[in-house]
Amino acid sequence: MDKIKVGVVGYGTIGKRVADAVMLQEDMELIGITGHRYSYRMLIANEKNIPIYALDGVEDFIKNNVHIAGRIEDMLKKVDIIVDCTPKKIGKENKEKYYKPNKLKAIFQGGEKPDVADCSFVAQCNYDEAVGKDYIRVVSCNTTGLSRTLDAVNKKFGIKEVHATMIRRGADTWDIYHGPINAIVPVLELPSHHGPDVKTVLKDINIFTTAISVSTTLMHMHNVIVECQKEPTVEEALDLFKNTSRVRIVDNASGVRSTAQIIEFARDLGRNRGDMPEIVIWKEGIGVANHHKLLYMQAVHQESDVIPENIDAIRAAMGFKDGKKSIEMTNKSFGIE
Ligand code: NAD
Repeated sequence: MDKIKVGVVGYGTIGKRVADAVMLQEDMELIGITGHRYSYRMLIANEKNIPIYALDGVEDFIKNNVHIAGRIEDMLKKVDIIVDCTPKKIGKENKEKYYKPNKLKAIFQGGEKPDVADCSFVAQCNYDEAVGKDYIRVVSCNTTGLSRTLDAVNKKFGIKEVHATMIRRGADTWDIYHGPINAIVPVLELPSHHGPDVKTVLKDINIFTTAISVSTTLMHMHNVIVECQKEPTVEEALDLFKNTSRVRIVDNASGVRSTAQIIEFARDLGRNRGDMPEIVIWKEGIGVANHHKLLYMQAVHQESDVIPENIDAIRAAMGFKDGKKSIEMTNKSFGIE
């Protein structure tokens, strides 16, 4: 079978991870990435022998000894599909400028508005909906995290209503320009955009979300309260999450007390970049109140939870029909369950 030829546009936090993940797939070939401007990331792409296709001028790259394989137009001619990992709003511009005129399928990220694509996507929730679509939007890190666990809860107990609070990291680890450094910043928009975004994937869920930003770069945290139709027990919920793909249970008893230990855990596992693509739930953080209320706390590694989703979205867009199999293949390549 021919490998799926993939190009990655935008080689930042998400793009560099998607590029590495594509290279791990037996059914995919990374044709190249785009170079926006000279930076250490371009030098790394050169060291990894990943072809770089320049977006604008090449003089700056040449001056700095970065090897360029061609221009973006050259890459577009060689690929079956693009994964656009540019900052929000640019994906939509790129769709009009590059992908539509070249009749190329494309995967977009959660910073884009839902209308950029034919569907929003979390593999274990709605893979079938995305099969054969030209444009798929992998939802944001927070929406991915909520959708994975809420879909499982909905199937097992039925959901009447969800209230969730996102405690968001202030910036990505490399990012020295955003904050807060010393504050807790409420998002003064109710509901926060996360609730409506979950409904682009889990369409019938009744959900209300709030959000605050805090002084950390490692992970987000979600405190989730679900009013269930069937009465849950803590043991049943724990068992459910243990058996949900791309969800990992940790426990305070073993010393995993915070997001800091989760990232250390991922590093000690030998994960690429110390990534934790699974949504992490604390065993001791699961509770039941007033018979029908299920409470749980989960941590989301914002830089990596969407990466397996991008890989499954590529297969779905290219017409691979078996979502369960795609998830298995992707999980195996990441060393996750
Ligand atoms: P980033 O800033 O780390 O990387 C963006 C990349 O795009 C950079 O390589 C930059 O040089 C390049 N770029 C900038 N302008 C461009 C242009 N006009 N054309 C082509 N390339 C251009 O961004 P990111 O954090 O990787 O975010 C990318 C997308 O993924 C956004 O939609 C974001 O909302 C989403 N996302 C980000 C995270 C996260 O935690 N960082 C998590 C989930 C989803």
